[in-house]
Amino acid sequence: VSVPVSVVLERKGAEVITVEADALVAAAVAALSQHGIGALVVTAADGGVRGIISERDVVRCLAEHGSTSLTDPVSRHMTTDVVTCGLDSTTDDLMSIMTERRIRHVPVVDAGALAGIVSIGDVVKSRLDSLEVETQALQQYVTGSS
Ligand code: AMP
Repeated sequence: VSVPVSVVLERKGAEVITVEADALVAAAVAALSQHGIGALVVTAADGGVRGIISERDVVRCLAEHGSTSLTDPVSRHMTTDVVTCGLDSTTDDLMSIMTERRIRHVPVVDAGALAGIVSIGDVVKSRLDSLEVETQALQQYVTGSS
């Protein structure tokens, strides 16, 4: 049932919405809302991964510092110690990582470059799709139909 991250990305696409570290938190909030996503990868000028800022970081900075934090740079509120995975990691690996680290987004890095992002929603969808295929195969086996 577990599939490689490369397959997940083939199905959902490799696009990653990013934000620069010196952009304002308000711009990050706008991007999260516009794209209907929960986290943005923060990139350096060379395109490398510098951090990640999720809706949870925004809620925390608003709760702790109020709305003035909307004009802070993203770099002040992002997480810099980013957990990433490779293309040959599996959905099972990601479920463990997401559960243990309490994160819902894992950027995919291949040969030092950002190659995609997998969210907890992508993992759940992939899991359900595989279960459906497995169930159909078992039904066919039991009923003898093909
Ligand atoms: P999330 O559950 O993904 O919304 O994120 C919860 C917290 O973990 C936030 O503080 C994020 O900045 C942080 N976070 C999210 N994804 C990652 C990641 N891949 N590596 C490190 N921290 C992360």
